Amino acid sequence: MAESRPVRLAAAPSADAADLLDDDGAMALALEQARLAAEQGEVPVGAVVLDATGHLLATGHNRTILDRDPTAHAEVVALRAAARRLDNYRLTGARLFVTLEPCAMCLGAMFHARLAEIVYGAPDPKTGACGGVVDLSVQPRLNHHARVRGGVGAQACGDLLRDFFRARRAAGRAARAQAATAPASASFVPASSASASAAPASSLPASAAPAAPATLTASAAPASFSEAPEADAPLLRNSLSMPKQKPASAAPASPAPHPASHPAAGGEHTHLVCADPDCGAHGVHEQPSGIYLISPSGAVADPAALDLAVERLRALGFRVAVDRTALAVHERFAGTDRQRLAAIQRALKQKHPVVMATRGGYGLSRLLPQIDWRAVADSGKTFIGQSDFTAFNLALLARTGAVSLAGPTAVFDFGGKKVDDLTQALFQETLSGELEILSFESPGADPVDARGILWGGNLAMVASLVGTPYLPDVQGGILFLEDVSEHPFRIERMLTQLWHAGVLEKQHAIVLGQFTDYRLAPHDNGYDLDAVVRWLRKTVRVPVITGLPYGHVKVKATLPVGAPVGIATEDGMAHLVLREHGH
Ligand SMILES: [Zn+2]
Repeated sequence: MAESRPVRLAAAPSADAADLLDDDGAMALALEQARLAAEQGEVPVGAVVLDATGHLLATGHNRTILDRDPTAHAEVVALRAAARRLDNYRLTGARLFVTLEPCAMCLGAMFHARLAEIVYGAPDPKTGACGGVVDLSVQPRLNHHARVRGGVGAQACGDLLRDFFRARRAAGRAARAQAATAPASASFVPASSASASAAPASSLPASAAPAAPATLTASAAPASFSEAPEADAPLLRNSLSMPKQKPASAAPASPAPHPASHPAAGGEHTHLVCADPDCGAHGVHEQPSGIYLISPSGAVADPAALDLAVERLRALGFRVAVDRTALAVHERFAGTDRQRLAAIQRALKQKHPVVMATRGGYGLSRLLPQIDWRAVADSGKTFIGQSDFTAFNLALLARTGAVSLAGPTAVFDFGGKKVDDLTQALFQETLSGELEILSFESPGADPVDARGILWGGNLAMVASLVGTPYLPDVQGGILFLEDVSEHPFRIERMLTQLWHAGVLEKQHAIVLGQFTDYRLAPHDNGYDLDAVVRWLRKTVRVPVITGLPYGHVKVKATLPVGAPVGIATEDGMAHLVLREHGH
């Protein structure tokens, strides 16, 4: 290239072999810069510029707050330093490494600098100009271009950003909890900051809008920048770009009452990322909401566990009220059918926006015909529970199309020895609407890039509803399933029932959560859960994704049953897009 048209390539004035950097080395240096930024309270983004021969030319990190300069993004800071060093604004042949997908301003500056290549780490679905929001790197009408590569060291880059924003949110939350009138007995301090740092590596789209509030949105941008993603843009493009299109809806699609429609997840192998640009401010301006606890299923065995759960929820900043029959006992149920139905009725009328089940067990199935589903949907309450509560989630969806949540229950998740930090954070972030994408490890996941209504829950409960008016008829959905204490052959048998009933084949994806607490026998001869998953993959022509952090386990996501979501897999990771952008 340089042969036919002589060009003076950028080269560091005093380069020696010691500062020759490869991709990993350059990104590591950029990350170091990002950390420096964080230490100074700037959004942690760092950049380095290498000359045409791979030697270090300059570094930079975000300085917008420090310098009171809206243009002081890491890339611009590094470009300026590099240009000064070369005494030339043209950095021909040079390459820039940055921890986050560049914004339109920075990409433009880099084009003007005649860079040969731009390499970024984490994608930025909020301001990214390499596919995150717009893709200027492929605009043929721009007169200069550079090669653009994304995803180098994305995990570490995303981690850093995510930790930064989480810590900021945690600080806001702590301040809020302190301000809230927490009961004197509340000994449980919000552990969000602990959960943030303890949370496993995040993977993708850590959002990272610049510290300054201004985010480039398609509508605010000049016309030539406002190229909207195609209607059917894949979920994963350039690592990960956010879709705009709403999924073809399934069941009756009445709007969610108070849709906490962006939950997330956790798990030892789970990464969650908030892709919200203002997430630094989130949690600060969110009002803590109130929770009303009811027992629609099995009897609460240990009242002290419920007391503890109430105390902990209050310490998180929630106002909590316990229904007067929450501790009732009748046979194995939390009260007679009439008592439990009355509790549901009271839940619709009381003032708190969230209604949480104290526990699962068994008992909702027999109540389904007597629940006024229209009234439940019209109440505007957000119902949450799991296990037996799947019957409630699915009946509500089937009868009205309303969204409810599958997630923590008071006794199981908040009344034990310890509350899982991630479960708690995900629950809160779901309620406050912070979480947009739940990413989790899914080794060997089938390739998929689809949208649909998220639905499902406990496998035994889903299977039990087949043939009843309470199983939603979801076409092209994302079906998630978990179960506990079921031997793999029983799991297979229930899946077979769904398959024979035509339920599985019409989904866009089957997402398996955690199947726990069963015992294999010697005569299984190697038949195990993996064998069931292999059988499932062979049997149904629907992508199967494993690893969803949901089930009868401590670490669980809070999932919006009935909400449109996206799912995509890439490199052993699955990404559940719980809230699409454009809000
Ligand atoms: Zn920028």
